[in-house]
Amino acid sequence: MWRRSIKKMIVGVDVDGVLRDFYGSLERTYLKYYHDHIIKDPPSFQLHELYPIGYKIYDFAFEEHAGEVLGFADAYRNAEGFMRMLHKFADIVIITSQPTKRAKVFTFAWLQRADILQHVDSVVIVQTNGLLKKHHIGVNYIIDDYPPNLMDFPQSKVIVFDQVWNKGLEWGKRCYSYDEILKYLQGRMTK
Ligand SMILES: [Mg+2]
Repeated sequence: MWRRSIKKMIVGVDVDGVLRDFYGSLERTYLKYYHDHIIKDPPSFQLHELYPIGYKIYDFAFEEHAGEVLGFADAYRNAEGFMRMLHKFADIVIITSQPTKRAKVFTFAWLQRADILQHVDSVVIVQTNGLLKKHHIGVNYIIDDYPPNLMDFPQSKVIVFDQVWNKGLEWGKRCYSYDEILKYLQGRMTK
């Protein structure tokens, strides 16, 4: 007897702003070195507009202090549990864009540290501003928080992870919690 094979859905999951609290970690690390600086609040996701050192913030976050900012960031509450539940019915591709070699290494290390790597089928780390874009990776759904990434995908594939900096985006399905994402995707499983 043969079994009908059921094709699992493939879900792409972003890291920063979806699983990892990059913004919190950057702020905490920054204030260690520049205690008297005032960081502006989002909605801007352009870091150089929020941090008083301007464009130097990219070197601070992704080279100089990449280990601290990326490797030791907190996971959002229950990120690991969310990935475990999602993996029961979906194949998961982590799709993250990182600008430097150090950022890539510490992001991979973080996925392991946060116990997330065990729930993942593959990891794609694209080079920021490189030719390979997130939307080139074949997925049925993408969970991301960054409007320009999401706009590259057809709306039917898009799950916007609600954050203050993406409030204005009306594209795809906006979800406010991990539970909401799980319910939404379970409802879209092919019978
Ligand atoms: Mg992100």
